[in-house]
Amino acid sequence: MNPLDAIKGGTKLVFSLFMYGEDREKMQAERLYICQTSGVNGRKCDYLQELPGGGLGKIPRCGNCGCFLLAKTKFEGEKCPLGRW
Ligand code: SF4
Repeated sequence: MNPLDAIKGGTKLVFSLFMYGEDREKMQAERLYICQTSGVNGRKCDYLQELPGGGLGKIPRCGNCGCFLLAKTKFEGEKCPLGRW
């Protein structure tokens, strides 16, 4: 990654942190819903992995980009690698 990309990414991250909590939660829920329903016949995306999280329930992870989706879906500047959200 070149330094300019790192600066752009950091700027997007800072701006996304200023989204109101309610807006952020709505965006996260909509994105996770897409991950859970955008596969064939409305099933979960082929890349959606649900890792065992012990007492915390299942932890969703994207098998395409490798990101943990509870975090990735909260940041406005992040994108699905397949362009679904
Ligand atoms: S982020 Fe995109 S590719 Fe990854 S699991 Fe969700 S819908 Fe699938």
